[in-house]
Amino acid sequence: MVKICCIGAGYVGGPTMAVIALKCPSVEVVVVDISVPRINAWNSDHLPIYEPGLDEVVQQCRGRNLFFSTNVEKHVSEADIIFVSVNTPTKTRGLGAGKAADLTYWESAARMIADVAKSDKIVVEKSTVPVKTAEAIEKILTHNSKGINYQILSNPEFLAEGTAIQDLLNPDRVLIGGRETPDGQKAIKALKDVYAQWVPEERIITTNLWSAELSKLAANAFLAQRISSATGADVSEVSYAIGKDSRIGPKFLNASVGFGGSCFQKDILNLVYICDEVACYWKQVIKVNDYQKSRFVNRVVSSMFNTVSGKKIAIFGFAFKKDTGDTRETPAIDVCKGLLGDKASLSIYDPQVTEDQIQRDLSMGKFDWDHPIHLQPVSPTSIKQVSVVWDPYQAARDAHGLCILTEWDEFKRLDYEKIYESMRKPAFVFDGRNVVDAEKLRELGFIVYSIGKPLDP
Ligand code: NAD
Repeated sequence: MVKICCIGAGYVGGPTMAVIALKCPSVEVVVVDISVPRINAWNSDHLPIYEPGLDEVVQQCRGRNLFFSTNVEKHVSEADIIFVSVNTPTKTRGLGAGKAADLTYWESAARMIADVAKSDKIVVEKSTVPVKTAEAIEKILTHNSKGINYQILSNPEFLAEGTAIQDLLNPDRVLIGGRETPDGQKAIKALKDVYAQWVPEERIITTNLWSAELSKLAANAFLAQRISSATGADVSEVSYAIGKDSRIGPKFLNASVGFGGSCFQKDILNLVYICDEVACYWKQVIKVNDYQKSRFVNRVVSSMFNTVSGKKIAIFGFAFKKDTGDTRETPAIDVCKGLLGDKASLSIYDPQVTEDQIQRDLSMGKFDWDHPIHLQPVSPTSIKQVSVVWDPYQAARDAHGLCILTEWDEFKRLDYEKIYESMRKPAFVFDGRNVVDAEKLRELGFIVYSIGKPLDP
């Protein structure tokens, strides 16, 4: 029986391994993590992350061929294939701060593998890493090896949060990069055999290591660039029209209050760090995205008679996209900070985000090399102006304005007549994701502003 161990039970490690376990019943899959609460949650009825379909897959496989454990060393030493899916945030200090990836977690995982391995291992880079990380990892492993053969593969993950299970079950492509040596090719085949259990052969692409690493960074940068630049007269019409071109395709063209999530910005910054020549272009992509968020705040404040001081504003949605509870780099952080900066009081509702998460996110500063001033943490006084509620109607009661910051489907189905009645007048809706039917809301009496659409008369 092939044994797989995955280091890192996060948004990528957990779902990816659950799907491998589902599709490869003869493979034993153990996901390990240093975080005891995270592993306890994976072993409970309340998984640590929300993804549609994930509960069902885990329930089917857990205890059969899928296990979650904090006994990192034991399972790493017993595995044939080790996926490393630890976090790789942007460095916050030292050389490359604000741009380069912080590989501390990766390095300590690699050193731990070298310490405990007693047999040959295939080590798979699942995390998104800078180009040539595999070479660095190889050095750590081989310089500490006791005659063990390590083969490093790059197998970047292309799943999107919110659709992770569907993306994993039916991927556009699986990319495997490895050495061109006979041992490298053998390792590629071993990993290919795993994916081939459910992914059609023509969708499994094999390349050299560096191509695979660079493809992931470039893919994220291109997606982010599409989102940040998509705005126009009536954005739905424009994106429909240009998306019909098969060379372009319809995905990732919708305008919004800005892109978020743990990956896009970090991966672009990585690209900026490794190729200074094109840094200007990619920096602009991030700037356009920052501009989208501040433009949204400006729109809210200017529409509400140039001040939101002392006014209650309801925030619908805090996660960086629908169907996830992930708030890393969510545009809601910047929008809320902007509104609090103008002394609004906020009532926030998101079906999957907890009060602790929101308080933590707003209390943190964010490093940015150009705009350190914008990104200060919210002061203790302002944080008192934030309340987090579990009911959208409560959030909207007595509010002067309502900002929709995540495209949760349930926001389409709310009783907006009831919401309108309970709000102060004039009642404003600022739809940062174009989820509501603006015309219908206008008929109810709302003043509506939608991203990328003609302004309210
Ligand atoms: P995450 O923060 O959710 O999970 C990482 C986990 O690794 C954490 O639970 C942490 O405790 C654990 N960890 C760190 N060091 C460890 C160690 N030495 N031993 C054991 N466990 C350790 O991160 P994520 O969102 O799953 O992302 C992981 C990687 O995948 C990142 O490089 C990210 O860029 C990449 N990625 C993320 C997504 C996404 O949508 N989130 C998509 C594709 C790729």
